[in-house]
Amino acid sequence: MDAQAATNAYIDAMGPERLARAMAYTTGNHWILLGTLVVSILTAYLIARSNVLTRGFLKSEQKPNRTAFLSSAIFMLLFSSISLPWTLYADWVRQHAYQRSSQPLGDFLSQWALSTVISAVLGALLLAAIYLILRRIGQRWWLWATGVVAVSMTALLLASPVVLEPLFNNYQPLPVGAVRDALIPMSVEAGVPADRLFVFNGSRQSNNFTANAGGIGATARIAVSDVAFKDATLSEVRAVTGHEIGHYVLKHSQWSILIVSVLTLVSLFAADRSYPRIARLFGVSAPIADPAGLPALMTTVSIVAFLATPFLNTMSRHFEFEADRYSLEHVGEADGLATALVKTADYRNPRPGLVEEVLFYDHPSVSRRVYKGMIWKAAHEASPSASPSIPSN
Ligand SMILES: [Zn+2]
Repeated sequence: MDAQAATNAYIDAMGPERLARAMAYTTGNHWILLGTLVVSILTAYLIARSNVLTRGFLKSEQKPNRTAFLSSAIFMLLFSSISLPWTLYADWVRQHAYQRSSQPLGDFLSQWALSTVISAVLGALLLAAIYLILRRIGQRWWLWATGVVAVSMTALLLASPVVLEPLFNNYQPLPVGAVRDALIPMSVEAGVPADRLFVFNGSRQSNNFTANAGGIGATARIAVSDVAFKDATLSEVRAVTGHEIGHYVLKHSQWSILIVSVLTLVSLFAADRSYPRIARLFGVSAPIADPAGLPALMTTVSIVAFLATPFLNTMSRHFEFEADRYSLEHVGEADGLATALVKTADYRNPRPGLVEEVLFYDHPSVSRRVYKGMIWKAAHEASPSASPSIPSN
């Protein structure tokens, strides 16, 4: 078989209209990324100018930890609220305009409020720890603060499946049936017991089939979206779940924490050096160790995070290719993977330019991923004894 021709056939099957729409949506996303940076800088500037963080009740010299926690929580709540119109446009209006979501506005807003409150509390705890380090350690604070961030990310990774995810979706044991039968051998191979297979109401947020594998030890589990029982074929469910198990088995989350920690070190160091300049621009006279300067500090961090996007995307694309390879080698559903990938092409133009892909794509383009799958399929069709044929529907 001709892998390139098979790839083209999969993508061309979308038709010119869907492809044009996917391109418009994807290009828009690149602008959204830039827009988000501009909105966060403006929002931080507004908060700094409002002087809300220099109010009397936040001036307590005796209780610096309480002051740091309160200032950070207020900053984060204000930040989310002021930028809500932008969030609404980017994550709700636009998603509906492109038929990416059917979530009602009320449900979207209540989930937004929930995640805003959780982020404000967790973020304020983290920032209070960083301000404690700033006061105690002084000059080398960014080194120690990176350690605190790394520990927090690890704790979040471990706790998330147990504590956070159930707040946004309902998780139930995967019911007996074809989907469960198909997933049991895969989960056993990955070291996750069959009674740790779950289904969650992913159709609440997205019409696309998604799955996740996470946790560690007794909390390890594999969960599939209920879209598995609606709009996905069994070979797609197997291929995509195999991909997610690949991320899990290859420890991509742990690697990401390591790489993001290095990036945190760079960004906090940059924040340390550029703070005086940005504070002056924001009209903030507080020194870096004073939580009243938080808008200026957060702005330097978000600029570094923006500049690091192409670097993080490159890491992520590498992990995605690895997870695809795991799925192909362990599940062997090259066509199921291809049709599942083509469904994601509606929100990720399948044929981007090389520069566009390097800068903006956190997943490799669908055309390159399907092509790799077809190469794998061609190699295994040539020697059918190498892998047993798997019935696909
Ligand atoms: Zn992935």
